[in-house]
Amino acid sequence: MTDQTLPIDADDRRAVPPVICYPTDHLPQPDMVLYNQARQNLTKVDAVSVPPREAASIVVPAGHFMRIVSIEGPQVGDLNLFHQHNLNERFYSGKTRALHGTHVSKGDQLWSSFPAMRPMATVTHDTLGWYGIDAFGGSVHDVIGTRCDPYTGRLLSGQNYHHCCHSNLTRALADHTGLPLTEAEAYVHDVLNVFMCTGFTRDTGQYFMKASPVRPGDYIEFLAEIDLLAVLSACPGGDCSAEHSSDTAACYPLLIEVYAPDDLPGWTPARINSYDRSHGR
Ligand SMILES: [Zn+2]
Repeated sequence: MTDQTLPIDADDRRAVPPVICYPTDHLPQPDMVLYNQARQNLTKVDAVSVPPREAASIVVPAGHFMRIVSIEGPQVGDLNLFHQHNLNERFYSGKTRALHGTHVSKGDQLWSSFPAMRPMATVTHDTLGWYGIDAFGGSVHDVIGTRCDPYTGRLLSGQNYHHCCHSNLTRALADHTGLPLTEAEAYVHDVLNVFMCTGFTRDTGQYFMKASPVRPGDYIEFLAEIDLLAVLSACPGGDCSAEHSSDTAACYPLLIEVYAPDDLPGWTPARINSYDRSHGR
């Protein structure tokens, strides 16, 4: 870069205002009035605790609510979502980011991979919704990170660490499905970083994290738009205030709860994308 001559109109070119890549004016919207009403009368039907530096899975039937709850201490969770009956349809963090921005909150949806590309879940409540975007450009529940993994750890530190979220998710998915570890690993994908506070530095554009503002009792809640298998890792980074990919940080369990609403009148599961898949042939 340094050996390049600055064009005479460099400032003008930089001053061009940005446009939103994917305007969402025509994106079909979830019926948040219906969801708000439905979540007033819920019955807990299932729950699982996620131990620190481990992962756990739970099935969330379509039309049920799932809560991820902070208990005991500040803790970040790495969430994978699958169509319960087809592991090839899974959460697509990149497209979710393109549609909803770097972080998700109430009213945003979590989208699935091609070719289904449909909402898998809708965020129906977020007790950290007050956080907004801080002075560093940080916010909560990101879809910009990937998941901590032993390959990057090995590259950067030369060590083998087996309790990164990638490995935790792999073991939990293998346990749920009965697949061998190496087959289960291939289904693990980029996550929703639940409760994690992240952004990009303005000067270098680097991915940063900072201590999560989550406190015990905080939760994020979703409506399952299709039958879901949710797998959640309690990240070895704890609140991600310092480091991950090690046993250094204080870590706490997370709780996943599944609730059935009394009624969800007129609601139907999300349909797969209607593109005809002919790709111009
Ligand atoms: Zn992690």
